[in-house]
Amino acid sequence: AAKEAGRATYQFFTPELNRRASDRMWTESNLRRALANNELELHFQPQFSMEGRRLIGAEALVRWRQPDGTLIMPGQFIPVAEDTGLILPLGDWVLGEACRRAAELLRHHDLLIAVNLSAVQVRRPGLAERVAGWLSAYGIPASALELEVTESVLMDESDVVSETFSRLRELGVPVAIDDFGTGYSSLAYLKRFRVDKLKIDRSFVSGLRAGNPDSGAIAEAIIGMARSLRMQTLAEGVETEEQYGCLAEMGCDQCQGYLLGRPMPYEDFLEFVRRDAAAAEPRVAEPVG
Ligand code: C2E
Ligand code: MG
Ligand code: MG
Ligand code: MG
Repeated sequence: AAKEAGRATYQFFTPELNRRASDRMWTESNLRRALANNELELHFQPQFSMEGRRLIGAEALVRWRQPDGTLIMPGQFIPVAEDTGLILPLGDWVLGEACRRAAELLRHHDLLIAVNLSAVQVRRPGLAERVAGWLSAYGIPASALELEVTESVLMDESDVVSETFSRLRELGVPVAIDDFGTGYSSLAYLKRFRVDKLKIDRSFVSGLRAGNPDSGAIAEAIIGMARSLRMQTLAEGVETEEQYGCLAEMGCDQCQGYLLGRPMPYEDFLEFVRRDAAAAEPRVAEPVG
C-alpha cells in the first residue's frame, strides 16, 4: 500500500514538475527576446504622505507586455530572470527607464521614484556606478530616486555590498528595505548600512482593525523602531480607510495601496500627477487648521 501511495504521489507530481520546467524554459527564452524587443514596461503606483495625504512619489513596477497585448506580472518572470542572470540586463533597463520617466515627471511635480533591486544586482560590483551613470544621463538629482532592497541584502557580508552601500550614500540615493518584517534578518543588521526607510509589508497591514491594538502590534513595533533609528516608514498594501486610520494613528509616515492608487501605466500616472497638482492648488489658499 505504501508503494502504491508512493507511486501515486510520483505520478501526481511529475506532470506538474514538467509543466513548471517548461514554463521556466519558455520564460527564459522569451525573456531574452523581450529585452531585445523592448517588451518590458514600467507601471507606477502612487505613494502618499499620511499627513495631508499628499502625493510624494511612486514605486516603479515592471511588467512584460507580450506581442499579443497580454501583460505578465513580475512574480512570473523575476525569479526566472534571477536564476538565469537575465536580471542584470533587465535590472539595468529598469533603472534607466525609471530615471528617464523620473526626469519627465520632475517637470510637473516634486516626486520620488522608487525602484526595486534584486539581491543579485546588489551583489554584483558596479551597481552604484550604474546608478550614477543613469542619474547623470537623465540629469536627475540622486534624492529623486529611491532604491528598494530586501532584508537579505543587509545580511550579505561581502565587501562588494558594503562598498555599494557607501557609494550610494556618497551619491545621496536613498535606500528603503522592502517587505520589512518578512525576512529572517536580525535587527542588528539595520545598523550596518545607512537605511532611509522601512517598507512595512502588506501582511502586517491587511489585518489592522480599529479598536483592536493586537492587530497592529507588529506594524507599531516597526514604526517605533524606525523612529528611534531615524528612519521613515511606508506601509504597503493599504486597501481600506480603516487600515489607513490605524497607521496614521501609529505615526506611520507614508503609504501606498489600492485605497489610494493601483499601479498604472506611465501615461495614466502622468494624468494622476496632473490632477493631484490641480486639486492641491486651491488648498494652498485655504486657512490652515
Ligand atoms: P513589491 O516591491 O513588494 O511591490 C508591491 C506589490 O504589491 C506589487 O505587485 C503591487 O502591485 C502590489 N500591491 C500594491 N498595493 C497593493 C494592495 O493594496 N493590495 C495588494 N493585494 N497588492 C498591492 P507586483 O507589481 O506584482 O510586483 C510584485 C513584486 O515583484 C514586487 O513586490 C517586487 O518584489 C517585484 N518587482 C516588481 N518590479 C520589479 C523590478 O523592476 N525589479 C525587481 N528586481 N523586482 C521587481
Ligand atoms: Mg517594492
Ligand atoms: Mg514590498
Ligand atoms: Mg511585497
